[in-house]
Amino acid sequence: MSYRGRFAPSPTGPLHFGSLVSALASWLDARAHNGAWLVRVEDIDGPRTVPGAAEDILTTLDRFGMHADEPPVWQSERTERYEEILSQLRATGLVYPCGCTRKEISDSLLSAHARNTTLAYPGTCRDGLHGKPARAWRLRVPDGEAAVITFDDRWQGTQKQDLATEVGDFVLRRADDQWAYQLAVVADDADAGITHIVRGADLLDSTARQIYLQRCLGVPTPAYLHVPVVTNEAGDKLSKQTGATALDTNEPLKALQAAARHLQLEMGEETYTSLNAFYDAATAAWAARMKRGAQGNASRS
Ligand code: GLU
Repeated sequence: MSYRGRFAPSPTGPLHFGSLVSALASWLDARAHNGAWLVRVEDIDGPRTVPGAAEDILTTLDRFGMHADEPPVWQSERTERYEEILSQLRATGLVYPCGCTRKEISDSLLSAHARNTTLAYPGTCRDGLHGKPARAWRLRVPDGEAAVITFDDRWQGTQKQDLATEVGDFVLRRADDQWAYQLAVVADDADAGITHIVRGADLLDSTARQIYLQRCLGVPTPAYLHVPVVTNEAGDKLSKQTGATALDTNEPLKALQAAARHLQLEMGEETYTSLNAFYDAATAAWAARMKRGAQGNASRS
């Protein structure tokens, strides 16, 4: 199997330090495996996509010396494929229309919370719409033991999520007619033949859903590695919403060295004068860190 990895930014703003950390980790992992590294623009969420941000991110990656091995894939150009996948799932009977509004779901979750029971989608529309119009499409998750998904994360160690009690039947196509991230990401990774996913730990919670979807579609499950997210002083994940600023593209090495420190790569105090020298040293440090395995990471992060 030849390694295929990817970086999948959402163009909601320019590349910031938090997304640089994910980009760098996925790039180094691909290099350490002599593999291919691809870029996918996750511009499927129309309302959140900022015009020009995708081009800006692609230019910044180039300026930082991270060059994709294939032309970027744009999610906005793949909606027919998502349609096909939804039909494939509908044919299995696993997908059903849901007429619940956000308010109805949150009301029922609030009362569930008060009763100290599950916070998952309660399955209101599983057996019919109760006379309401269809708003979204949901994927039915199994009950009981079959709902428990476990996987070994290469950084975070063994992970486990019970889809039935922690998530519930989840949305594949949203009420606002947008494709859900879960469906798009699974379709794209499978179609691109991605073997290794390296991304921020904020997506750890989505991984069990994605593995379940892969099983429903009969596509392989890639290896996963979730790097610690970068937070601001208040402890919030760095994002445009929490005030992350764009990277200074005139000083790529400074930001890259800071990103390598965040990934706890042992590279000494050396100051690098070329991107190539930095990437060679960082790739070796990444490979050494990966050799220690998830245990080594867990005890150090
Ligand atoms: N587009 C997602 C983000 O920017 C990443 C998705 C993924 O790597 O699976 O947070």
